[in-house]
Amino acid sequence: MEFRDLKKQYQLHKEAIDAAVAKVLSQGDFIGGSAVAKLEEKLADYVGVKHCITCANGTDALQLALMAWGVGPGDAVFVPDFTFFSSGEVVSTVGATPVFVDVEKESFNIDIQSLKEAIEKVKNTADLIPKVIIAVDLFGQPADYKAIREIADENNLLILEDSAQGFGGKIDGRKACSFGDISTTSFFPAKPLGCYGDGGAVFTGDDNEAVLLRSFKVHGKGADKYDNIRIGMNSRLDTLQAAVLLEKMDFFDKEIENCNKAAAFYSRELEQYVTIPKVREGFYSSWAQYTILLKDEIQRKRVMEGLKSKGIPTAVYYQKPMHMQKAFEDKQPVKTDCSNTEAICKSCLSLPMHGYLEEKDMQTVCKAVIEFL
Ligand SMILES: *Cc1c(COP(=O)(O)O)cnc(C)c1O
Repeated sequence: MEFRDLKKQYQLHKEAIDAAVAKVLSQGDFIGGSAVAKLEEKLADYVGVKHCITCANGTDALQLALMAWGVGPGDAVFVPDFTFFSSGEVVSTVGATPVFVDVEKESFNIDIQSLKEAIEKVKNTADLIPKVIIAVDLFGQPADYKAIREIADENNLLILEDSAQGFGGKIDGRKACSFGDISTTSFFPAKPLGCYGDGGAVFTGDDNEAVLLRSFKVHGKGADKYDNIRIGMNSRLDTLQAAVLLEKMDFFDKEIENCNKAAAFYSRELEQYVTIPKVREGFYSSWAQYTILLKDEIQRKRVMEGLKSKGIPTAVYYQKPMHMQKAFEDKQPVKTDCSNTEAICKSCLSLPMHGYLEEKDMQTVCKAVIEFL
């Protein structure tokens, strides 16, 4: 059994994907090219935001957004304590200060009360100006943007939606990557919409921001890439990856539907034995991960090893809270209580989840989890 079955996906769609890749090779437009332009149009249309600017990966996408806003030294950026390293890394890359905020145990997303407290703490104690909330759509479920928007408006903060794991998710029919002032995603192979290498995208409804983002991603270009008007990056989406993504978009919604069926199956079977992930009313998850909570580290280790002995792969996302990462040791003048994150890191376990999981596999996983509890 595969944790995320990319081989099966490729085998099923091999003909179309191979043809799309061959077309790029024979056209020879390896940088930029028509596939990238076409993909940006299709992604913007899918999400319902005016501009999509593709780039090299999801980490660059976040960094580009912060650069476009001019975020830097002296600025505080609020980041959930329970997320992949990139969400906080980019804050330090641009010289700003990350303030880690606790998450909810039910949705794994940023906790609104903790966010309010962190903002007050920065205002009262630090020589920092609160600037941005990086709201992460963890494991596929959008964060609570209604509440986050209220707080952002009250405190004059920008929202950066990190939807690396959330692409394909929705709130009341509105798509992920449309909730931030700028939103980003990643096309890393294991993400909901993955390519066959690295890739990323930035979304904005603002024309000026779109121009800035396009400049920053190509060496701070002005009229062209040999006219350089600011310090930027080299962060392009590979044309071959764009061609793969265009093909994958045709069956993306179906895959997410299948993930939702698998998640419903897991939840039904496991609900009375372990803590299952909760999806808020009106929210739709793209199930980048299906993550359960066990009693403690000992029980988790037992279940992991038991499943492994039966050939079932699992993963611990994430082992360590952001505020405990060595890289941030000397970069946190403001600390807040992140006890939910600390508890989750000790008890979380992600089960196999993808659009090609068969019912007998789901049954095998659930039986084994219950057996080794
Ligand atoms: C994967 C991920 C990223 C970074 O994406 P890359 O394409 O690997 O750079 C950022 N944020 C979150 C929440 C992620 O899961």
